[in-house]
Amino acid sequence: MYDEDFDFDFENRIVDSEVQEDDVGDTDSENSLRPRSFDEYTGQEKAKRELEIYIKAAKMRGEPLDHVLLYGPPGLGKTTLAGIIASELGVKFRITSGPAIEKQGDLVALLTNLAEGDVLFIDEIHRLSRQIEEILYPAMEDFAVDIMIGKGPAARSIHLGLPKFTLIGATTRAGQITTPLRDRFGVTLKLELYEPSELAAIVMRSAGILDAQIDEESAYEIASRSRGTPRIANRLLKRVRDFSQVKGDGKITTELTKNALSLLEIDELGLDNTDRRLLSSMIKFYGGGPVGLETLAATVGEEAVTIEDVYEPYLLQIGYISRTPRGRVVTRMAYEHLGIPYTASPEGGAQGQLKIE
Ligand code: ADP
Repeated sequence: MYDEDFDFDFENRIVDSEVQEDDVGDTDSENSLRPRSFDEYTGQEKAKRELEIYIKAAKMRGEPLDHVLLYGPPGLGKTTLAGIIASELGVKFRITSGPAIEKQGDLVALLTNLAEGDVLFIDEIHRLSRQIEEILYPAMEDFAVDIMIGKGPAARSIHLGLPKFTLIGATTRAGQITTPLRDRFGVTLKLELYEPSELAAIVMRSAGILDAQIDEESAYEIASRSRGTPRIANRLLKRVRDFSQVKGDGKITTELTKNALSLLEIDELGLDNTDRRLLSSMIKFYGGGPVGLETLAATVGEEAVTIEDVYEPYLLQIGYISRTPRGRVVTRMAYEHLGIPYTASPEGGAQGQLKIE
């Protein structure tokens, strides 16, 4: 069932954590805002601490770093962290993505062009086809690939040695990649959503680079509406900066920030219309849940995987929905936020949630 009354605009959300054109833009500002060293990279302390040790140890042994798998929602800094790892190792950083590698030959060409110790970063590694993945297994394990030359009876297999490299894979969820691939990563690190205080520090740093005047309170205001995601924090900062130039004297104040964000219909928690409608349709059509992911996806006209990777992590983090074996449930806090009376009916979500948890 597709809900016609609800006009979901999944394409152009300002709080979308996936890259939008504006993030890269003509000035390539996503790149200019990208931290280049561990010192500039705010938060993710656990991942940073671990990586610093592994990098030091690999350097002491004069060996390449073990393959690393980074997972977590979009916009949390996986690509950035991979770049920092390469620069701390003092090696070249080659970047590609699962969907960009269409043929086995594409991957073989990438691998054979690496130099000893280089970092190959594959974003969205879960989107590699099985056939291409199979090239990666011996490449990761034995630093070699076997390729078939020719066809039919004349076909023969050639064993090609590769330089010892480090593969860094990124995915939104570790569960999305196959077990044989997952098992070949020596290091697996989960990136967490950021705390508002960490995002405020990121906003202050970005404002410095963008030459925007901002005070700490306003930075915190932007941070707390950024859904735990640096990419969104940077994007909101840029929009608020535009607003301050046109409506003010260019200085970003708390009042201006609040006005700009309410104009963009982003509430104090960073929820936009899409989130509010997602929650209210769960309440309207399914009594608050439990509702299965696929059913919910059909109702709002979005792919299940997008709901799971992009919309849900933050709603789970702030406790507005919970996951139960029978599906997603809207919590009391979300009802209160939306101003909808909370009714705990026997079939309703409230009961379902209490029973299961
Ligand atoms: P992902 O690969 O996880 O989608 P990116 O590494 O592309 O995310 O990060 C998106 C943007 O967010 C980067 O351009 C960078 O400016 C910013 N960013 C991410 N993580 C951090 C961090 N820890 N500190 C400061 N800025 C960050």
